[in-house]
Amino acid sequence: MSKLQPARGTRDIYGDEALGMNAVVDTFRRVAGSYGFEDLATPIFEFTEVFKRPLGEASDVVSKEMYTFEDRGGEEVTLRPEFTAGVCRAFISNGMQQNLPCRLMSHGPVFRYERPQKGRYRQFHQINAEMIGPETAEFDVDMVAMAWRLLCELGMRDKVVLHLNTLGDVESRAAYRDALVAYFSAHKDKLSEDSVRRLDTNPLRILDSKDEGDKVLVADAPLMSEHLNKESRAFFDLVKAGLEAAGVPFEHDERLVRGLDYYTHTAFEFITTELGAQGTVLAGGRYDGLIEKLGGSKVAGVGWAGGIERLAMLTTIVPEVARPLFMLPMGEAATLKAFALAEDLRAEGYTVIADRSGNLKKRLTRASKANARFAVILGDNELEAGMVMVKDLDRGTQDQVTFDALTAAVVE
Ligand code: ATP
Ligand code: MG
Repeated sequence: MSKLQPARGTRDIYGDEALGMNAVVDTFRRVAGSYGFEDLATPIFEFTEVFKRPLGEASDVVSKEMYTFEDRGGEEVTLRPEFTAGVCRAFISNGMQQNLPCRLMSHGPVFRYERPQKGRYRQFHQINAEMIGPETAEFDVDMVAMAWRLLCELGMRDKVVLHLNTLGDVESRAAYRDALVAYFSAHKDKLSEDSVRRLDTNPLRILDSKDEGDKVLVADAPLMSEHLNKESRAFFDLVKAGLEAAGVPFEHDERLVRGLDYYTHTAFEFITTELGAQGTVLAGGRYDGLIEKLGGSKVAGVGWAGGIERLAMLTTIVPEVARPLFMLPMGEAATLKAFALAEDLRAEGYTVIADRSGNLKKRLTRASKANARFAVILGDNELEAGMVMVKDLDRGTQDQVTFDALTAAVVE
């Protein structure tokens, strides 16, 4: 192990990847803003209970993926493995129930102890949106439509398919749970070890199993749609009708369940075929019991999270980078004057890079390499005359201009 490498599953993000990830976040904030969402930044770590209770002890995240440790004061804390629980905790802590619905957007690093591979890391980044308050299906439509709009604006319209399902209300879910237990118990010998355990803790999660043997059994398992009560069916019908009206294409995927305990009714995932096994780029659903589980009042919610790394790999947005202006002072006095001129230009909004080493030819080569349009050369002779030399690197022309005329001379 080399101590000079980042820890397993973590990475340094720079260059084009950093630009792509920023573009995803910027687009997210703009799109969610257009739906009335406001910023909420929660701490990167919380008391472990905040995640343990709502996500469920038996969930993969809680049982094997959390970064949990005791801090120096003896408090048990966990690096956030997702946003929703922390956002709901913040909703309760700050008394936000006075003003419903709450539309909250967040983004930042998330931590899960997973086996690293392309598109799967131990520290990764999410964009996250939560709508807290509304109990009716129209809001599920808003949330899914917002996700679709974001993906379209990221240029991913033809790269993703929306898988949509319902998990029903508590009653429907209990009926379905019984049906699954009966079915899988009859095939217990063929189930993976994990799924045998899930049979007791949360049988719905067997449908989510990545084990090949389990998948064969899952193919013939009973369907949720056969166990929905009237209310749950009506709720789902409204979601589907709303999405059709909003022009959001979807597939009803009966096998879709979400990995976490707290979902009810709507569950959805936007899946791509372009990232191998790491195909889910954005996912979410409704979580009506979550806030109560955390100790708050009975308030419903619906939300989603997207993986910024995966979205950045797929977006067709080419982030615009301002072309820099290169400032090339050729002597001591010129260097000092260049500080002042560069500040003036930056105040006008220019990106200015001062290149103070090597001969002029080398500096101009670096300026071209950095895609600069203009190079401003300050020699001692020009300085005395109150002039600078402006080189237009695109046109191959050059001009002497006074200090005052510089800003006007470097307009692209
Ligand atoms: P997966 O099935 O890929 O494990 P998940 O169901 O665990 O995903 P969610 O908890 O719904 O994922 O998180 C939302 C999004 O975060 C995912 O759709 C994905 O884009 C991204 N994501 C989840 N885990 C990772 C990870 N370890 N590395 C990078 N991105 C991730
Ligand atoms: Mg996962």
